[in-house]
This record gives sequence, structure tokens and C-alpha cells, in this order.
Amino acid sequence: MEKIKIGISSCLLGEKVRYDAGHQLDRYITDTLGQYFEWVPVCPEVEYGLPVPREPMRLVGDPNSPRLRTIRTGVDHTEGMLKWTEKKLKKLKKEELCGFIFKSRSPSSGIGGVKVYTPSGMPSQRGVGLFGGSFTKKFPIIPVIDDGMLHDPGLRENFIERVFVYKRWQEFIKRGGLVGDLVAFHTEHKLLVLSHSPKHFSALGQLVARAKQYEPDAFNAEYTRLLMEGLRFIATVKKNTNVLLHIAGYFKKQLSSDDKKELLEVIENYHKGYIPLIVPVVLVKHYVRKFNEPYLKKQYYLNPHPLELMLRNHA
Ligand code: SF4
Repeated sequence: MEKIKIGISSCLLGEKVRYDAGHQLDRYITDTLGQYFEWVPVCPEVEYGLPVPREPMRLVGDPNSPRLRTIRTGVDHTEGMLKWTEKKLKKLKKEELCGFIFKSRSPSSGIGGVKVYTPSGMPSQRGVGLFGGSFTKKFPIIPVIDDGMLHDPGLRENFIERVFVYKRWQEFIKRGGLVGDLVAFHTEHKLLVLSHSPKHFSALGQLVARAKQYEPDAFNAEYTRLLMEGLRFIATVKKNTNVLLHIAGYFKKQLSSDDKKELLEVIENYHKGYIPLIVPVVLVKHYVRKFNEPYLKKQYYLNPHPLELMLRNHA
């Protein structure tokens, strides 16, 4: 499988670019995700021209438009960093990234919860780094996460799922975005979207039904927006249970009453939190194969990402 291009804060790969000449190597990123992702490393502070080591910086002032200043000497790097960011984002557009993993809490790379210091004392935690914030504003559709969130199993699975969907969507667009392909793409992702957001599931269905009323570019833009917005919602136990019960309905006629009872019990045990999602999914996949169910066979809900990532073992 071709590796998926993902932007990443350089220090997370072990590059010694931090202000203290250290790094923040994250082995889950390099050893596990690195098997599937091709990294496009970015260190805003070093690429902007600051040395290693360097005086540390922080955000100060209004959390909505803070200044980036060195802590001890107060040198203001805001304008320079924003100028560099604008050029860098143009270059990154050409990379066709399918996601970005940012370093958390950094005044340059952070995408949320970055401290912003006010003259009155207590820092607010509402800031975003100058580069990280600009990236998410310029590319609101591209999946992003920071290394802190990446260690939360639910957020991690959500991010990786979105990366794989976004990659498939990009490939669909590259193939010319034909209507026949669109119907197939939409059909294959139906249950996955339903597990994240029933509201977006309906809205996407209605949009596809009206596809002919749109110019292709306008349609694709709206479809991408709705798809990626819907997938940002976490697939909760309740939503997964509904999808699993929906799937179980396909086997009403084929299964013996004993097998039906067992399947419903497994789903119920998942619902109660006794077993992880992977258990009912494996059982359902077994029946999909056994009865060669054509609609379910194509559902990415049953294979959203490589099994080796073991994401559903914790969900
Ligand atoms: S957090 Fe960002 S700016 Fe700081 S060292 Fe890492 S990549 Fe560079």
C-alpha cells in the first residue's frame, strides 16, 4: 500500500530542533504510524530562521490575536513568523497532505490549549500556535491532531479513520470524480458516516440525490465539507451499537435462532462495555463473508483502517 502523506512537527520524529536542542520523539508515531504514513516534517521556528538552541518563546496579549515573543528578552517574532507561515502553507498545499500531527502546547505549532500570557498575570489556555492555527484555518478539511490527543484512544482512532477516508476521497477526485464513482464512494462509506453522525449521514444522502443540480466543483466542495465535518464527531458506543444492530438486520433470514441470539448478545455486551468494538465487528465480518452480503462487503465501517493498528481493541 502506498504510504499516506502526513505533515508533522519535526521534534516528534526525534529531530533535535527544540529551543533546548532536545527533541520529543514519539515512538508510537515513528514505529507504528510510520508503517502507513510518509512524514512531511515541519519545524516553524527553525525553518523561519531561529537557531538551535535558542531563547524559548511564548504567546502574549489577546488570545484571539496574540504576539509571539521570547520570554526573557521580549523579542517579537510575530510578523516574521506569520510571513514565513504564509509562504510555507503555499508550499504545503502542493504536498497534498492527508493529515497533520502537531506538537501540543507549542506557541508556534500548537493547535489548541496553548497558554497565552496577559499582563495581568494568569495565562489563558485558549491560544493556538501561530503556524498551527494558520494551518487549520487555511485547510479546515484536513484532519489534524496533536501528540497529546493522539494518546487518547478515541481521538486517535477518530483521527486515523479521517486520514484514511480523506486519502480515498483525494484518490476519487484524482480519478476525475465521476458520478458513477461517487455513488460507489458514498455507498461504501455510508455506515462509517452513520457511526459518527446520523445527521451528516442524512445530509450527505440528500446531497448525493441532488448531485445533478450542482456544478462538479461546487458539489465536490460541499460533499467534502459535510463528509469531513461529520467524521469529526466521535463514534460513541451508542452510535456503534445502532450501526451493529442495523447490520444484524441483514442476517435476519440467514441465521439460525441460536446464531441470531448469540450475535445480539455480543452486540449487547459491547453496548454494556464488557467487550471492545472489535469483537462484534469480527463476528459480523464472519457472517458477511459466509453469506457474501454484497452491500456490507463493501462497507469501510467494517475495515476502516489496517487491523494491525489495533484501534478497535480499545473502543
Ligand atoms: S514544537 Fe514546533 S517549533 Fe517547537 S521544536 Fe517542535 S516543531 Fe519546532
